[in-house]
Amino acid sequence: MVDFHRRPTGNRRIFPQSDIVTGIAHRLEKLRARIRECEDRHGRPPGSVRLLPVSKGQPAARIAETRRLGITGFGESYLREALDKMSQAPDCQWHFIGPLQSNKTRGVAENFHWVQSLARSKVARRLNDQRPARLPPLNVCVQVKLSGEESKSGVALADAEMLCREVSRLPRLRLRGLMTIPARVAGEDAQRLAFRTLAMEFQRLRRQFPEMDTLSMGMSHDFEAAIVEGATMVRLGTALFGARTR
Ligand SMILES: *Cc1c(COP(=O)(O)O)cnc(C)c1O
Repeated sequence: MVDFHRRPTGNRRIFPQSDIVTGIAHRLEKLRARIRECEDRHGRPPGSVRLLPVSKGQPAARIAETRRLGITGFGESYLREALDKMSQAPDCQWHFIGPLQSNKTRGVAENFHWVQSLARSKVARRLNDQRPARLPPLNVCVQVKLSGEESKSGVALADAEMLCREVSRLPRLRLRGLMTIPARVAGEDAQRLAFRTLAMEFQRLRRQFPEMDTLSMGMSHDFEAAIVEGATMVRLGTALFGARTR
């Protein structure tokens, strides 16, 4: 008997979705190889750098394909867009990496596992108060704005310590480390300079806050420079998924 409900299995290659699968799988493999090689070359232990896929502006289908490759954590910058995607992938870990205003803290506190873009103590207190008791403490990185950076958010380097101290005292937040988005500069030497500044501050703060284990720096265009300087997490969007669609 013919089963009309069953999709034919032999012709999957003709679906455009399959091109996306191949593209992401291939790029993921290449990016992992570059990360490994960079760890190797600079004396970093293998596996010490985590690749966080940044899925903002990418259709949910690409997240689904990436999950099939065994990846379960994603970075998102916009609350509403992220909530849509979470409903389709409830078993994933979500990192909020966008600018965070006070009026968005509840949605973030209730739905995310990490906030990497904390830049204000008022936002820290609200996230702490709004984190539901049934969930574990929210993982937090303090975003540091290095000089010359175009992005408006982030605390000045000199204020990072104060905000870290505040986070470390809030019971529903768990201080994990620092994050930065340096100004776009060409050439690895120039890129490394900014990353080195943050890495030195990270090492210094770690003596006061030994619970810090995350130095989140490096994006598609500069992640190798970030790894050389000590990044433990690189946030990759376009290098993994291709151009954003919105
Ligand atoms: C968009 C974004 C990324 C990813 O950028 P790509 O250049 O696409 O890799 C990483 N971090 C933050 C904070 C972002 O907003």
